[in-house]
Amino acid sequence: MAKLTVSDLDLEGKKVLMRVDFNVPIKDGVIGDDNRIQAALPTIKFVLDHKGKAILFSHLGRIKKEEDKKGLSLRPVAERLSNLLNKPVTFVPVTEGKQLEDAINKLENGNVLLVENTRYEDVVNGEYVKRESGNDPKLGEYWASLGDEYINDAFGTAHRQHASNVGIAEAMHKSGKPVAAGFLMEKEIQFLGEAVNNPQRPFVAILGGAKVSDKIGVIDNLLSKADKIIIGGGMTYTFYAAKGIKVGDSLVEKDKIDVAKSILEKGGDKIVLPVDNIVAKSFNNDAEHKVVEGDIDDGWMALDIGPKSIDNFEKVLKDAKTVVWNGPMGVFEMSNFAQGTLKVGEFLGSLTDATTIVGGGDSTAAVKQLGVADKLTHISTGGGASLQYLEGKTLPGIAAIDNK
Ligand code: ADP
Ligand code: MG
Repeated sequence: MAKLTVSDLDLEGKKVLMRVDFNVPIKDGVIGDDNRIQAALPTIKFVLDHKGKAILFSHLGRIKKEEDKKGLSLRPVAERLSNLLNKPVTFVPVTEGKQLEDAINKLENGNVLLVENTRYEDVVNGEYVKRESGNDPKLGEYWASLGDEYINDAFGTAHRQHASNVGIAEAMHKSGKPVAAGFLMEKEIQFLGEAVNNPQRPFVAILGGAKVSDKIGVIDNLLSKADKIIIGGGMTYTFYAAKGIKVGDSLVEKDKIDVAKSILEKGGDKIVLPVDNIVAKSFNNDAEHKVVEGDIDDGWMALDIGPKSIDNFEKVLKDAKTVVWNGPMGVFEMSNFAQGTLKVGEFLGSLTDATTIVGGGDSTAAVKQLGVADKLTHISTGGGASLQYLEGKTLPGIAAIDNK
């Protein structure tokens, strides 16, 4: 179902409450990677260009005790945002009360204000009460009372039920105020949602990463939806064990061998496994390594897929119209074991006729690090949220947005 979006709203002169994802790495007050701030700019600019008053909310890190607050202020983010927008950003160092209300009332059309870290509400008077991350309805109601419209552009937290994404939205509904998706959120819903629920076929899923246990939900859901499922990465070897192929010292989840068996039975020839692997003497980039087909001897561990597997995968992928990729094909963090992930990424980049989507925290990091991200259709911004989407779950943050 199509969701209401920021472009459906009448923004001029409105107090526009916006949930963005400014959960950026900050060390000693210095922002590392500001990707997430950059990613939020289109929706913020749109609101400002349309003369809305943008009131921004975000969480940053985790706050469990009073001392945690010090290093997790959003103040440095306000400064960076101001540079990026090339205009002043009013930073309000509190999350409720007169100071915040006055600042909002003073805000002029086309101007922007950033509220302090929403998770400051998790610790009140030194007590860990989780008002924000436990979705205290009173807090959502209070925040909702501060504005006329609410926009959620924080896909990365959509799988969580917080006061700043779900409670506030529900309170807006109750008072008849609109709840819309921002452009980032809209894009995620469009690409991940379409791919999973209404894919152009053939639809091929590529699943890798470390463990079967992390991905059972994803495999289960995609098993009934995809035309082919390519398996790679660390989870391969639990499937090998299920098939009676020797795994040597590779990563195997013994307690998931039965699950792997039943997936193989259900999936039949839908499932494509690697036929060869790069095996190493130890978990180390400089370890002695070689390519082996089939059985892996003791004393060797598989850290990447081999060249024949890459060829096979490319044959499966070449006619695909939709590809969803979660989980690297090998230990891409080590250059000697990054080829599988790199080659698969490059091949996806060459498919001009397909929609290619990457979801998952490490997968996103991998395609960026290996320089193939730009050639793919959509790189999801939410690690956990995109996984839950691929599992077919309803994300509370998305469910709380108005339908059109
Ligand atoms: P995502 O975060 O995208 O969902 P995962 O967390 O499931 O991905 O998996 C990423 C991790 O899997 C990476 O750190 C990578 O090194 C690891 N990995 C991939 N292949 C192997 C392998 N053969 N053996 C051990 N670890 C692996
Ligand atoms: Mg991960």
